[in-house]
Amino acid sequence: MKKTFAVVGLGRFGGSICRELSREGMEVLALDLDENKVNEYREIVSHAVMADSTDELVLKELGFRNIDHVIVAIGDNIQASMLTTLILKEMGIRMITVKAQNDYHEKILNKIGADQVVHPERDMGKRIAHHIISDNILDYIELSDDHSVVEVKAGRKMSGKTLIDLDIRAQYGCNIVAIKRGKDVIVSPMATEQVNASDILIVIGADKDVNRFEKNLV
Ligand code: ADP
Repeated sequence: MKKTFAVVGLGRFGGSICRELSREGMEVLALDLDENKVNEYREIVSHAVMADSTDELVLKELGFRNIDHVIVAIGDNIQASMLTTLILKEMGIRMITVKAQNDYHEKILNKIGADQVVHPERDMGKRIAHHIISDNILDYIELSDDHSVVEVKAGRKMSGKTLIDLDIRAQYGCNIVAIKRGKDVIVSPMATEQVNASDILIVIGADKDVNRFEKNLV
């Protein structure tokens, strides 16, 4: 059975989720207080409804109980976001993802029982900051407070050397999980794989190790 989704709040974030889920062929119920937003998404998602998500009865009537994954993407109205999450949790929704405005909002959402809390603006800001600091870092994904995955340009220092020559795991404590070479992606490269200057390396490790690796080898 195909998973069903509901997106509450059709701002930039919720809207983008709706478009992407629909593009992937998923069934999406989209909900917003604002009639214009609902009209905008009517053609994009399976069902678009104008309603207040803080009204428990409305959510019940709309059949939210049968939805596998609900994304609460209400922006500024923290109170509505929390109340919606609480109602969904009490309804027994299996997977609830909520967009948090700040750290306090996140703490409360975790207490209420949100399964996943996301901070799209904060996370995107971090990713872009890392890219701005170093020309070699193309992307950055935070795994935890002190672990990350980064995408770095290999550069001349590593060019022509194999992963054994570079001895990255022993020297820097991080792992090259993939190498992007033009259109190809070499997943889990062999130790004998030779690195080209134009390769893009996907590196995973503790932030301090990844930084050391980037400073010394890139
Ligand atoms: P973003 O920062 O992602 O653009 P916004 O704050 O602009 O988010 O958008 C949030 C959306 O959530 C708005 O379209 C707003 O109408 C909707 N919204 C706010 N409160 C409720 C609610 N109680 N029920 C349904 N939709 C809501």
